[in-house]
Parts: sequence; structure tokens; C-alpha cells
Amino acid sequence: MQKNDLCEIKIEDMGKDGEGIGHVDGLTVFVKNTVVGDRAMVKLMKVKKNLAYARLTDILEPSPFRVTPVCEKAVQCGGCTLQHISYEKQLELLQNHVKNCLTRIGGIADAESLMEPILGMEEPYHFRNKMQFPVGLDRDGHPVLGFYAGHTHALIPLTDCPAGHPVNREIMKAVREYLEEAEVAVYNEEQHTGLVRHVLTRVGFYTGQVMVCIVINGGKIPEQELLIRKLQEAVEAWNTHAADTTATTGRAKELELVSVALSINREKTNRILGERSKVIFGKGYIEDRIEDIAFRIAPEAFFQVNPEQTRKLYGKALDYAGLTGEETVWDMYCGIGTISLFLARKARKVYGVEIVPQAIDNAKENAELNRISNAEFFVGKAEEVVPKLYSEDPDRYRADVVVVDPPRKGCDAALLSTIAAMAPKRLVYVSCDPATLARDIAILTKEGFTLKRVATVDMFPQSMHVECIACIQRKS
Ligand code: SAH
Repeated sequence: MQKNDLCEIKIEDMGKDGEGIGHVDGLTVFVKNTVVGDRAMVKLMKVKKNLAYARLTDILEPSPFRVTPVCEKAVQCGGCTLQHISYEKQLELLQNHVKNCLTRIGGIADAESLMEPILGMEEPYHFRNKMQFPVGLDRDGHPVLGFYAGHTHALIPLTDCPAGHPVNREIMKAVREYLEEAEVAVYNEEQHTGLVRHVLTRVGFYTGQVMVCIVINGGKIPEQELLIRKLQEAVEAWNTHAADTTATTGRAKELELVSVALSINREKTNRILGERSKVIFGKGYIEDRIEDIAFRIAPEAFFQVNPEQTRKLYGKALDYAGLTGEETVWDMYCGIGTISLFLARKARKVYGVEIVPQAIDNAKENAELNRISNAEFFVGKAEEVVPKLYSEDPDRYRADVVVVDPPRKGCDAALLSTIAAMAPKRLVYVSCDPATLARDIAILTKEGFTLKRVATVDMFPQSMHVECIACIQRKS
């Protein structure tokens, strides 16, 4: 078998990135956009000793789990990789992936018995409160917004995205018109020329507040009044026909543009946002609520992207923390203080630590906004701040309960050993990558902790990205 060969394959299994797996001539073959049960024609793209990567050319017999994608760009776009798979099957794949990580990487023999049923969505579309669209040109030289194709920076133009809030369709149109009318140069990544790089939108699902942030390779944009007017009209346009969208109950029906900002990013980098932003309309943040707590969110700050599922996740965090009101709690990687403030009402004291200064500004404002006075926040790397404070004053900075919610790479080893030294009764580990969660559980197991329960939350439907939360206890 060699490159460019066509062959027939039966998809027998699924890989961790949601790709189908089959066998041909002793080769294990990975095929994107297929699902277990498919019989398909594929073209081999890359052939190694025992494995190969192939491209789907034809479905000969569809799997019972196959459905028609909602988005016509689903196959090209790198965003949703599972749209061709029924939602029920998607949830099963996620749960399996988590179980495999815990067993193989975490060394947890009875992983399945510790796992709660996965928390999925009733309506797994239009769930994201934040979108980041790269800007480019189409073949005719007109400005377009879209997403990158998987693993490349080839821009797939989109006029809408079924993952985001439906107001994005109007906002994308407004930005395109503005770029065209004001003759703004779009950014060219290879040459590092042009002005407008990305468009970030944020919608407070429960407050209706909308922010648009334009990322630019420069200090200002031409005709900014034109942009602001078009964005206001876009939000109004959505308000007038909001009734026929799929917005679930509980979400704000009326939206309001409350913030337009420029993020200054002149670097030749893959990072989307620059270090600082400049408000050109309204305020520098939006507010949203999770249950009865209000949060102020700056463009640079992290905020969970799926508000409906976040409620479920934080509910679990509260449950796993098992607070009685007497505890000192550390919330590490706290962002804008979401989990910290969620727990503060049930704890004696909460400390939060986070690396992004704007997020800590928001965390402090959020504590005030919600009249929560027993939360204190520190800027810096968790692996530096926590060991330092704890060694200076172990009584004051003790931990009965620790919550960690690190980025995909998981917790720093230095932080894990400090946590072990702090000897909390319980550790609640919120994770957006089950592989690093499992790796860290293996480390914590050696330090005298035991995994008690794990819940999987489908925070990013239509993709293999998954959020987990683990309740880890110290052996007494
Ligand atoms: N718990 C928050 C944020 C979780 S996202 C919430 O649920 O909203 C992870 C956060 O970790 C981000 O805000 C990121 O800026 C922060 N972060 C990344 N590396 C860090 C480090 N080394 N120390 C502290 N915070 C870090």
C-alpha cells in the first residue's frame, strides 16, 4: 500500500481526536470525518510502517451513528469535528476518551465505577458565548471572516457558525461591510502586513450584553464611527427577529452592544489577542451571570465559553468541595474569580491566584460587585505564588480544600508538590484535557491522594474537546 492508493475500509473504532479507525492490509488507518460503522472508500495520504492517514472519498454504507452535519462547512472547518456523528454517540465517545485516559495514563483500575453519567446539552448548538474569527480575503479580494481548516491557517470563509450565539451572523456581516466600505487592509500572516487580524465577540447570555473586539496590527482603525454604527445596527437587527432563533429559555432575548474595543497585537505570532486593548465604544468589559453571581469580563480574561454547561460544572465543583462554611479554600488558575466567588459563600475564606492581570482586576471587581468580602486574589503563576505565600505563612495560607482549573497542559509539578505539602482534605480538579488530568492524578496518588469521583461535562459539543471535574481526597 502506498500514498494515493484508493481502498475500501470498514471503520471499527474511534481515535482520541474523533477520527475513524479501520484496517487495510495490516495497516491501521485513521480517517477524519468517518464514524464507527461506516463502510467507506478512502485515499491514503500518508503511509508509515504500521499506520496510515487517509482521506474520505466516498461513503459506501453509512454507519447508524452518522447524521447530516448542520453546517455546510463542517467537513472543511477545523472547529466542529464531530458534526457528522449523532449527539448521543458523541457523548459516548467523550466519556470513553475520559475513561481511557484515567485507566491508561492515570493508572486507575476502576475508572468506570468512579465516573458519573456525562452531562450533555439538550440543544447542542448556539452554545458558545465567545467567538474568535480570523479575517482574510476571498478569491475576489473581498474581506471575509471565518475559521481555519484543521491544523492549518487556511481560512474557511463563514457567514455564520452554528456553535456561536446567533447574533454572530449579524456581527460578521457588519464587520465585513465595514472592512469593505472603509477599505481597511486585512492582515496577511505570512507578510505581517495589513491591519485587521481577528474579530472577537462575546455575548453575556443572561444579561444580553455584547462586546466586539477588533484585533489589529496597528494602533487605530479608520472610520471607527462607521464600524460602531454598523455593529449597533447588527445587534438591533438581531433583536427584531430574535423570536425565531433557537435561543433556549433563560437567555436574554434583548441584546445590547455595550463594548467595542481594539486589541493591539503587532507581533508576528499565533496568539490572537495583544497585551492591551483600547475601548472605542462603551465600557471595557461585559457582564454576565452564573446563577445569581454577576461577573465582569475583560477581553483578555478567560471565561468558560458555554454558559449553560458552566452552571452544571460549577454546581459539581461546589458539590465536590463539600464545604461546611469553616474551610479555607484555594482556587488556583482562578481567572476572573468565577469558581472562587461561587464557593466563597459556603467557605470561611477563599484565595484565588491567576496569571493574567486583567483577569485579577476583574476578580476583585467581581467580589465587590457581589458583596463578597471573604475572597482575596493574587496575580502571578500559581506555581510561584502559592509556594511563596505558603512558606511565608503556612497558617494563614493553609488549605482545607484546593480547587485547580489549569489550561490544557495541566498543573505545574512544583504546584502539585506544594499542594501535597498543604495537605488539603479535598482537591477539586477541573480540567479541559483528560490526559493531563490523568497524568496529575497519577502524581497525586503517589502523594497520598485518592480519586473519588469524576464527572464529564460536554462543554464543547460537536468536538472531542471535553471538560472534566474530579474529586480527589487525601487518605487520612
Ligand atoms: N477557573 C477559571 C479559569 C480557568 S481557565 C474559570 O472557570 O473561569 C485557566 C486559567 O489559568 C486562565 O485564566 C489562565 O490565564 C490561567 N493560567 C494559565 N497559566 C497559569 C499559571 N501558571 N498560573 C496561574 N494561572 C494560570
